[in-house]
Amino acid sequence: MSNLLDVTQLRVSFHTKYGIVQAIRDVSFHVGRKEVVAIVGESGCGKSATAQSILGLLPKLNATTSGYILMEGKDLLSLSEKQMKEIRGSKIGMIFQDPMTSLNPTMTVGEQVAEAFVVHLGVSAKKAFQKAIELLQIVGIPSPEARAKQYPHQFSGGMRQRVLIAMALALQPDLLIADEPTTALDVTVQSQILDLLKDLQNKRDMSILLITHDLGVVANVAQRVIVMYAGEIVESGTVEGIFTRPQHPYTWGLLESLPRMDAKKGGTLKSIIGTPADLLNPPIGCTFAPRCPYTMEICESTKPSEYSLSTDHKTSCWLQDDRAPKVSWTYERTA
Ligand code: SF4
Ligand code: MG
Repeated sequence: MSNLLDVTQLRVSFHTKYGIVQAIRDVSFHVGRKEVVAIVGESGCGKSATAQSILGLLPKLNATTSGYILMEGKDLLSLSEKQMKEIRGSKIGMIFQDPMTSLNPTMTVGEQVAEAFVVHLGVSAKKAFQKAIELLQIVGIPSPEARAKQYPHQFSGGMRQRVLIAMALALQPDLLIADEPTTALDVTVQSQILDLLKDLQNKRDMSILLITHDLGVVANVAQRVIVMYAGEIVESGTVEGIFTRPQHPYTWGLLESLPRMDAKKGGTLKSIIGTPADLLNPPIGCTFAPRCPYTMEICESTKPSEYSLSTDHKTSCWLQDDRAPKVSWTYERTA
């Protein structure tokens, strides 16, 4: 079966008063049907811009895009704004980080969820409201009938995120793009929302593209992980591969910065030293070289090739070269 989404050689540049920011450089990946794929990286690594390119939401005035984004064979980059509007919602649903700003404070929650049915399916307002109540129930909102008549400010952060998930699901999209869906929530609510996404993905046969800065949240939700750094993919693999056999020094850094059980017993929480690459002037060689503890001469002058460690595990790092010194990095996953 073909992939649901195929992104090939995606490049996105932003024209700013300081120059051209090369936000995404030659990014290729796919999302299979019913698959959950996570894109992980620090803020500014291009993960949100990748999501926005798929949704056709990049600012038209200053962004230049090239490459292909095929959804069931159709190139989304070649569609008009009108055609993209149709696809957003019906084929691709989306949820973002901040549930408060994404909701309209002056409309009841039920009306907001119902809107998609009225606008896209031409359903009567009364029937749409009924369907909205059903959806609120599906996303785990208690007493959905009463809650549908309330306003966003009467909901907690976690409940608001459930409302947004209900809105994203209204038209039964094949792909749900979730950009930092749990970042604003506390840890317990965060795991409830992730469980809900996983459960809905299963029941509704959706694919999910989960965008996050936190490698910790992907382990129980995603099947595959794409690690992005400075606008490029540096490593990709199955969750199992990335957590048990990570190969890229940046992935090592992300893993080391995860909170660990032993942190309480005096272990330290490491963070990756240095600041992310300047995308106005990206390094010529490996973009991670200025922060990498293993930088070799070749890293500064030449972009690393992509090495396949297995059919679904790839990394771009010169340490994979036969002539490179052997670096052993070990990590015990305790949390
Ligand atoms: Fe570090 Fe070199 Fe690998 Fe880049 S290519 S991550 S600088 S070892
Ligand atoms: Mg972001």
